[in-house]
Amino acid sequence: MGSIDMDIKAPRGVRDILPGESWKWAYVVRTTAEAMADFGCSEVHLPIFEQTELFSRGVGETTDIVEKEMYTFSDRGGRSVTLRPEATAGMVRAALENGLCAQGASAKLWCWGPMFRYERPQKGRYRQFHQIDMECLGVSGAGADVEVIDLSAEIFRRLGLRNLEVVLNSVGCPVCRPVYRQALLAHFEARRGELCETCLGRMERNPLRILDCKNPSCGAAADASPAIYDHLCPECRDHFEEVRSGLERLDLSYRLDKRLVRGLDYYTKTAYEMLSGDLGAQNAVCGGGRYDNLSEAIGGPHLPGVGFAGGLDRIVLVMEEQGCSFGRAPAVRVYVAALSDEARSAVQVLTHRLRRHGVAAEQDTASRGFKAQMKSADASHAAWTCIIGPEEMEKGLVTVRNMADGSQASLAPEAVPEFVTKEGNQPL
Ligand code: ATP
Ligand code: MG
Repeated sequence: MGSIDMDIKAPRGVRDILPGESWKWAYVVRTTAEAMADFGCSEVHLPIFEQTELFSRGVGETTDIVEKEMYTFSDRGGRSVTLRPEATAGMVRAALENGLCAQGASAKLWCWGPMFRYERPQKGRYRQFHQIDMECLGVSGAGADVEVIDLSAEIFRRLGLRNLEVVLNSVGCPVCRPVYRQALLAHFEARRGELCETCLGRMERNPLRILDCKNPSCGAAADASPAIYDHLCPECRDHFEEVRSGLERLDLSYRLDKRLVRGLDYYTKTAYEMLSGDLGAQNAVCGGGRYDNLSEAIGGPHLPGVGFAGGLDRIVLVMEEQGCSFGRAPAVRVYVAALSDEARSAVQVLTHRLRRHGVAAEQDTASRGFKAQMKSADASHAAWTCIIGPEEMEKGLVTVRNMADGSQASLAPEAVPEFVTKEGNQPL
């Protein structure tokens, strides 16, 4: 059956992750979970929708996300709720609400799941996408920043990604950013004519955002702009130096980029991204940094934090492009076929027995003939086929066929699970 043309389709910008891909996702999440555990992070599951205010205050009113990308609606009780566009604000809310960082405690948490942004859909950019998110809360020292960057690099190393570049910057803090902002304003004021319509609007609201404008003319103006490193206050400068020397100590190479500012207002000090050479325009597989003022922005106490979010959809895309391994694809080991109708119940019992022993087994439940079953067995790439017919029924045996070389053995049903899993007995 080909695809069916129906009036109801998945909304624009969202997609189905189908069997050909879902097992790859499971591999990436599993590998991530192992690395997270090795770095002492605990997994949490957080709500997919939150009070709208969490994001308008925690992400920032002048960001693209809050200005034009949120899925916001009133629920039936008239409350404004929003599908989470990112995970950090929810993570900080959850840590505060559940007292995970009470009395100076720190927490390293991670989660993964869907995020929602109303963006222009294109390759590697969707309206429902998925992030792997990690946050270290309650630590203000640069050691935490280094650990976070190291963790994200380690995940990608384990996944086998090549061609990744770490791009690093500092976005300062409320002490030094206003000074830098002035210098930036003066610079762009003199080059107004080169700026796009959107950036002209950003002049008043958030001139730092002009730095990451994709428009070539704005880009040229941004390239010539003053660098924030020259405006950092002593505390931010020391922090930045410590992050850099920490990365160097771990042999993690990086490139400085004064134009890396990130779209989120609550970022302070460290900002970084990991870029892939194999993704085209949507080249960021991961972005992160420090956000020491987020907690206060959402009405909490002072709670420093640093973390990252990796784009799962893009990670899988790059891995496919680079021919990375996703571990073993799910496969049927044994196909159990009935040669006659009378054998169908014996097939059921043997299939059940195999699965009980943790052997991936498949059978026909649609009462199809033997030929059709053997076709399915071939298509499933099963290593073994068990055949039960009148003769086998009479002797209480099963014919076990090695699908690679066609050799056969006659076995008691009880012996089949061990036989098809024994070392040195593996076809292929
Ligand atoms: P970009 O510059 O590509 O828009 P961003 O700065 O908006 O990314 P973050 O908010 O830092 O992204 O999110 C972290 C990661 O999530 C990104 O590096 C990217 O891999 C992924 N991501 C962000 N938006 C999308 C999207 N719409 N579709 C797929 N992946 C996304
Ligand atoms: Mg974006």
